[in-house]
Amino acid sequence: MRCNWLIIGAGYTGAVLAERIASQLDQSVLVVDRRDHIAGNAFDYINEHGVLVHRYGPHIFHTNADRIWEYLSRFTEWRPYYHHVFAVVEGKQVPVPFNLNSLAALYPRAMAEKLERQLVEHYGFGVKVPVLKMMEDAVEADLVELAKYIYKNVFEGYTVKQWGLRPEQLDASVTGRVPIYISKDDRYFQDKYQALPRAGYTEMFRNILSHPKINLLLKTNYRQIQDEIQYDRMIFTGPIDEYFEYIHGPLPYRSLRFDLVHEQQDQVQAVAQVNYPNEHLFTRITEFKLLTGQRSHGTTLAYEYPQAHERGVNDAYYPIPREENRELYNRYTEEAAKLGNRVVFAGRLADYKYYNMDQAVARALKVFEDIKSAQ
Ligand code: FAD
Ligand code: UDP
Repeated sequence: MRCNWLIIGAGYTGAVLAERIASQLDQSVLVVDRRDHIAGNAFDYINEHGVLVHRYGPHIFHTNADRIWEYLSRFTEWRPYYHHVFAVVEGKQVPVPFNLNSLAALYPRAMAEKLERQLVEHYGFGVKVPVLKMMEDAVEADLVELAKYIYKNVFEGYTVKQWGLRPEQLDASVTGRVPIYISKDDRYFQDKYQALPRAGYTEMFRNILSHPKINLLLKTNYRQIQDEIQYDRMIFTGPIDEYFEYIHGPLPYRSLRFDLVHEQQDQVQAVAQVNYPNEHLFTRITEFKLLTGQRSHGTTLAYEYPQAHERGVNDAYYPIPREENRELYNRYTEEAAKLGNRVVFAGRLADYKYYNMDQAVARALKVFEDIKSAQ
């Protein structure tokens, strides 16, 4: 078989690049994925109970970028959705990111008001403060205690479960994704656009990949077919260390196990996601119909159990952002540079970056601009 481009991976990065190359450059693309489906980690499907579920954990689309929103909107209609998350702290369900409402739920009223005043005075209303930063720069005795309390009750246990590391052993950007919010806005994200594809992620990907110049080969590791395909250039969106056969040693990733449980009641949780920083082996439970707005008898929930990534046993879901891993990753980018422009590496696993979906799309669009301007 002959094609202009061989793209490995049918997730956001691979699918968006395939669509751009096919529709804008009129060149042929073969997209190969070793899974039996498109959409990468955003894959969703109707389970045996008729409930639309996300196979690889809850996916909520959010972005501030008009360009990304407009691009994806060509392939889907949207269901507006604002994500709300509770964390169980001392037996109470409190809003996360930790905010002034969480304070009110946990402290006696006078104390909560006093802390609120101090937070607003110190940082200003509407400001987001990563917990590690608050630990560092709080000087008022009450705020020092509060920062320690939030660290211990919201972040420490969750982070150790999720990553096998403590918050300060990771880049500050990891816990900084969920900063303390000096506000009464309980939403998990504040982005301009927040929604789920109305007919599901997989359907959106079907539309992205529907161009006649795109061919798709599933259930195939690219190494099985690499020699049989004649192609001009390759885009690789899988793990970069795997591509180079681990010559510098494996990059660490974190994996997850998802236990799906179906309950014969209408609704189990108050909100779509409840986090358990302090008890159980799982980190969070997601109730899918509360994300998707689906009406169904019964409800399906996913329990997420973090685990070490073992090659060939489970999937690599998360690059682990910390300096020593970045140094190892840089040795692989040096290998990539030796290949010149014959192979392009992009995506959450190929770039070893903790991209959200919109960032994966942004990365793919940027790679496409580079390809186009070099033509
Ligand atoms: P992927 O989706 O991982 O796609 C890569 C594809 O390449 C895979 O399908 C894989 O099978 C294939 N592949 C790899 N190697 C090979 C090979 N050798 N041969 C053939 N195929 C190969 N983002 C958000 O914005 N909001 C969220 O709420 C959110 N929740 C998430 C929850 C979880 C549990 C996880 C793990 C991620 C979440 N994300 C979320 C991030 C989102 O999943 C990623 O940003 C996005 O999927 C990245 O797309 P990608 O194409 O780079 O990678
Ligand atoms: N986090 C935490 N407690 C929470 C929520 C998040 O400690 O209740 C920390 C944890 O380290 C987590 C990180 O913040 O891995 C990022 O959280 P996010 O919800 O963005 O994780 P993702 O959805 O990407 O798994």
